Amino acid sequence: MAVEGDAVGADPRWRIHSTLARSAANGPGLRFVVWSQGCSLRCPGCFNPDTHPPHGAGLRRVSDVVDDVLRTDGVQGVTLTGGEPLEQPDAVGAFCAAIRRRTDLGIIVLTGFSRAEVEGDARRAAAVADADLVVAGRYNARLRLGAGLRGSSNKEYWALTGRYGAADLAGVPEAELVIGADGTITLTGMHGWEGGPR
Ligand code: SF4
Repeated sequence: MAVEGDAVGADPRWRIHSTLARSAANGPGLRFVVWSQGCSLRCPGCFNPDTHPPHGAGLRRVSDVVDDVLRTDGVQGVTLTGGEPLEQPDAVGAFCAAIRRRTDLGIIVLTGFSRAEVEGDARRAAAVADADLVVAGRYNARLRLGAGLRGSSNKEYWALTGRYGAADLAGVPEAELVIGADGTITLTGMHGWEGGPR
């Protein structure tokens, strides 16, 4: 079941569960993280069931999310996770293209689709064309790993550029606690509630 947001011209709408401006546990360095809302893949043992419904979260213009990234100082990259980002391929593709065009930030996409499923679908393939790295494949609870941006060991690193190597990924912390200005506490990373495991 696709959960595509409302595509509007070159500035698609993107159904987003949440964002985090500065995360140290969702890829190398400090990163702006976007959790897409909606996933139909239903991996047994997924820690993020709140991200599965295709509705019930905010619908945002891609350009507004890009502006949020541009206003965030000190980040070295963006990470797209979910939910399933590639069930909203037009929004993800437009976002990645804008980040590539307007910044030198690294781009990582975490998806439950396999590399073959991405390459075999023109819209999904286009969505990751500007990414540096895709971490691809269903989460398999029997192969639980929770390290290096892989929730389970079957997940495949698919490097589209040479920006991120094995050492960069091995150094990603497994979890972090983020305390917001309003006192909210978010546990994120491969061992956190948000973004893990995938
Ligand atoms: S692990 Fe990822 S792809 Fe699998 S059900 Fe959960 S959100 Fe969807």
